[in-house]
Amino acid sequence: MTRPDRPEPKAGVLDIAAYVPGKSKGTHGKTLHKLSSNETPLGASPAAKAAIETVAHNLELYPDGAAIELRDAIAETYGLHPDRIICGAGSDEILSFLAYAYLGPGDEAIYSEHGFLIYDIAIRSAGATPVVAPETGLKTDVDAILARVTDKTKMVFVANPNNPTGTYLPFEDIKRLHEGLPPHVLLVLDAAYAEYVRKNDYESGIELAATSQNVVMTRTFSKIYGLANLRIGWGFGPSHIIDALNRIRGPFNVSGMAIAAGIAAVKDREFVTRAIEHNDAWLPWITEELEKLGLEVVPSVGNFVLIHFPDEDGKRAVDADAYLLERGCVLRQVGNYGLPNSLRMTVGSEEANRAVLQHLKDFLGKA
Ligand SMILES: *Cc1c(COP(=O)(O)O)cnc(C)c1O
Repeated sequence: MTRPDRPEPKAGVLDIAAYVPGKSKGTHGKTLHKLSSNETPLGASPAAKAAIETVAHNLELYPDGAAIELRDAIAETYGLHPDRIICGAGSDEILSFLAYAYLGPGDEAIYSEHGFLIYDIAIRSAGATPVVAPETGLKTDVDAILARVTDKTKMVFVANPNNPTGTYLPFEDIKRLHEGLPPHVLLVLDAAYAEYVRKNDYESGIELAATSQNVVMTRTFSKIYGLANLRIGWGFGPSHIIDALNRIRGPFNVSGMAIAAGIAAVKDREFVTRAIEHNDAWLPWITEELEKLGLEVVPSVGNFVLIHFPDEDGKRAVDADAYLLERGCVLRQVGNYGLPNSLRMTVGSEEANRAVLQHLKDFLGKA
């Protein structure tokens, strides 16, 4: 066997398409409104900011590796047992832990056609094979997923609601998916946008994760809590899974500042309520105003909308993106999600939302 003349990554790593984050700058280096990463326009809870300052005096000290106080605060807020929670540097880290702990070469993991691309990265990083289930009407399709389960399937990732489509599955469908999976297949419910959803038939998956042996729900502090910069997420699931994840977790994976801010943020319910109210006001406004311009908008339950553009020279998503970037408004191209003629727009401040709508009106020549 000939050996390579330099180190080579294990199989699968170079098949990974590196994650492309939302742009943060317009074309002239100036950004007026960044609506490309589903960040909240409300900033973070003042209590969270204050909590960080106290930690800033003790940067030489390791944080509490088990994040006990943060898990307690999350447990109290969401009515969970703290022993069944694991915290991570963003929920992305929890998704990676799950892949590393339960997937290896020869295994398959399923996610849906326009699903969050971190799943693909996590699956391939673990050396396993991603299997993509087609969607129907830009929605996760339970039957398409179940039809792709084989002897090799070990895991299924579902973002509910999904990013970048903004669509969701009613809990009935999630239950049907769970019932259709063999008990050794791990169902991961990524509920990053759960707080924003205002639908009676929606559930984030807490109940299912509490009562099953093969369901984990992940959550994040990056979206409604406005702490994306600190990297905090968490997972909730059966003890045997949390135990496995804790064995591969870095001993100090969540920083002291993240822990302190997370505790303060999760307790500031008034801040969360304001964020929900802001979204409830502006999500329908943006949707209706875009539709008035003749654009097709996918009905969203999150803090963002997916906008389809006309298939017409000069009016396509890339053209709209360039036009907005020139004017300092940054949306997200989603071609790598199989949506080449769409843009994703985060619900921003009133000023940002109005600016984007005005620019799109001009762009489409509707002024
Ligand atoms: C933003 C997002 C996350 C959160 O990622 P963090 O690592 O917690 O910042 C997870 N899942 C989906 C679908 C998201 O859009």
